[in-house]
Amino acid sequence: MTESTPEPTAPGARRYVQVALNLPLRREFTYALPPGVDASPGNRVRVHFHGRKLGGVVTEVADTTDLPAQKVKVIESLLDSELSLPPSLLALARRMAQSYGCSIGEALDATLPSIAKRRGQRKLPHLELMAAPDVAHKAVEELEERHQAQSRVLRTVLEFNGPIPVADLRRRTKTSDSPWKTLVKNGLLKRVMIAEELEELVPSLDEAAERHVLNDHQQQAVDEVTAYVERAEHHTFLLHGVTGSGKTEVYLRILEEVRARKKSAIVLVPEISLTPQTVGRFASRFPDVAVLHSGLTDSERARQWQRLLQGKATVAVGARSALFAPVRNLGLIVIDEEHETSFKQDSTPRYHARQMAIERGKIEGAVVVLGSATPTLESIGKARRGIYGLLTLPERAGAGRQPQIVVEDLRGEPKDSLRQGVVLSRTLLAMMDERLKARDQVLLFLNRRGYSPVLLCPACGEAVQCETCSVSMTWHHRRGRLVCHWCCAEQRRPTQCKTCQSESMFELGVGTERLEEVVKERFPEAVVARMDADTMAERGAHERVLRAFRKKHIDVLIGTQMIAKGLDFPDVTLVGVVSADTGLFVPDYRAAERTFQLLHQVAGRAGRGEKAGTVVIQTFCPDNYAVEAAAKNDYDSFVKQELVFRKVTGSPPFARLLRVLAEGRHERDAQQILREACKPLDTMKDVEVLGPAPAVIAKVKDNWRWHMLVKCYSQDSFDEAMGAIGTVEDLATRTCRVTLDVDPSSLM
Ligand code: ADP
Ligand code: ZN
Ligand code: ZN
Repeated sequence: MTESTPEPTAPGARRYVQVALNLPLRREFTYALPPGVDASPGNRVRVHFHGRKLGGVVTEVADTTDLPAQKVKVIESLLDSELSLPPSLLALARRMAQSYGCSIGEALDATLPSIAKRRGQRKLPHLELMAAPDVAHKAVEELEERHQAQSRVLRTVLEFNGPIPVADLRRRTKTSDSPWKTLVKNGLLKRVMIAEELEELVPSLDEAAERHVLNDHQQQAVDEVTAYVERAEHHTFLLHGVTGSGKTEVYLRILEEVRARKKSAIVLVPEISLTPQTVGRFASRFPDVAVLHSGLTDSERARQWQRLLQGKATVAVGARSALFAPVRNLGLIVIDEEHETSFKQDSTPRYHARQMAIERGKIEGAVVVLGSATPTLESIGKARRGIYGLLTLPERAGAGRQPQIVVEDLRGEPKDSLRQGVVLSRTLLAMMDERLKARDQVLLFLNRRGYSPVLLCPACGEAVQCETCSVSMTWHHRRGRLVCHWCCAEQRRPTQCKTCQSESMFELGVGTERLEEVVKERFPEAVVARMDADTMAERGAHERVLRAFRKKHIDVLIGTQMIAKGLDFPDVTLVGVVSADTGLFVPDYRAAERTFQLLHQVAGRAGRGEKAGTVVIQTFCPDNYAVEAAAKNDYDSFVKQELVFRKVTGSPPFARLLRVLAEGRHERDAQQILREACKPLDTMKDVEVLGPAPAVIAKVKDNWRWHMLVKCYSQDSFDEAMGAIGTVEDLATRTCRVTLDVDPSSLM
């Protein structure tokens, strides 16, 4: 990328621009262009702002300004126009700012690829081991007492087993830059600049994209969507198809139609690394796919952007942010697994890719297709009211049949095995035995990592808590540490209870690590692998395990929700859900919906090939309607009951929620700020304000968390409420952070 001195066009003429900066200030700033220089909306510029140099985006150009001319600063430079934003994306950023209460600059920041933000940087800083591994291992131990963050950083680099990008390291360890810098200074780590290897970027898993003759349901879906594409008319469709019904095949065919009309498309998937097979199918069917991966280096990302801008690539596949890919002549946006929470960004701007996809579709006359086996209540509601077109695929395509589902009531298990905490019911054990003898593969799902989620004193009932968060720490046996899953802090296992000095601590509950141990003991012959955030710490581990599983080098795969999505392995004939109940009692109005979705998705991994599949769902709550409906594979009955619950509790889709969260050193400040923030809402019609109340996780890293929930029972009241508190973040103080979350996906 080049940074050019602006070239004069018509000597003498002077124009003014409005510039949006990536700051939480909800206004734009006026700058002058150098005499004779012209710019257009979407151009990126560098400007001086209160002693800093910032990058910004031009939103408007004018010949005059109301400000006194001598007060208006001249921009410092006009950046390479090749990566300037098309007008449609500028318009999208405006709508995002309006919808989610952020500044246009913040919204634009989400739409720009990082290459446009960090100019000219071709390589990324990585960290690698400088000391010998045994020295480093020893240092991890030694640092633990007094320099925990350093210890954590060093161990993570060791586990990664290769140069790890600094950004990646920070994310994994939740640390700042100072721990790794100290380790570099002390000669344990080395900082290196490298470009990431490219072959890792397109996950293919040897996926052959066989082209099938469509069944009638599939054909009808393709035809209906294509008709709108043909007319370049925006419309949103919900493609509701049971797992294995051939939704991906439908997307691929619609894409063929889109490309035949010289249009382009964007396909959003929940997470590239978790859906390698789906991504592989797109990449192998079309030669001109740009995969926008979060692991792309800046230069690689810039290259993909160029390909899209120049029309050399016509299909962009990626996670949430690929929605802003600068494709030309957009005809279609697909959101696969539209119910996934990863489509909602959990930092500013807190947008939902589904809503923004529809906005982009409206702006550019593109068709939006939302696909899921378990659509959200919001989406199915809109489809039933005719706002979205409803396309249904009621049965599995090809060889697969819906699996048989067995609900195993754990209340009938012997007390001994329950007390030990490890519950593989007799039924599940017997089936595993049988399937493994037949050389089939088994998936075991448990959505909780670590060895046991609680370390409890049996004498007084106290659990070991994180020192700075209000959560209990998870015991990780192999690592020999208690870990806080909120702030990543670690502790040694205490030898006695802090409260009553009793000397036996008790491991309560089961995580994937303990489950793995039990399965290995019980089936010594079987090859068992585990897939969770802990075992996937090494680079490339995810793909290696999936490939080994595909080649049948693994008999039993144990995993968290990482294994629930999109995987298609024909020899999996048994899926065991070790506990259907882990998510049921989470204090969130979506607990039942999430449980149903997860159970349905996991169950969908069984019986995808020629052989019949069985799913065993273990539960203490067999009568819970989410469990019951999942067991019967009955989406409609779940929706019906859930809607009653939502109506009674005034939850979405009967209301829209705004959440205001205040996090600070002093509880009183947090409450005070919240009260002030929500005061204007008191008298509004159709608006209900709850709180302030402590958040479910009342404290993280010594910051107290309080929140208020605003329920808006009509679109008008929602707009009015947004108008009143859309800038609530301005109330933040030095010790208290305030965030507004529109349609929050988490209430924790
Ligand atoms: P979904 O995305 O709905 O879970 P997939 O698109 O992965 O379903 O399809 C499931 C399986 O069925 C895949 O192996 C796919 O190749 C196959 N399949 C899809 N459509 C057809 C069809 N019309 N005829 C035969 N097999 C099909
Ligand atoms: Zn005790
Ligand atoms: Zn913590």
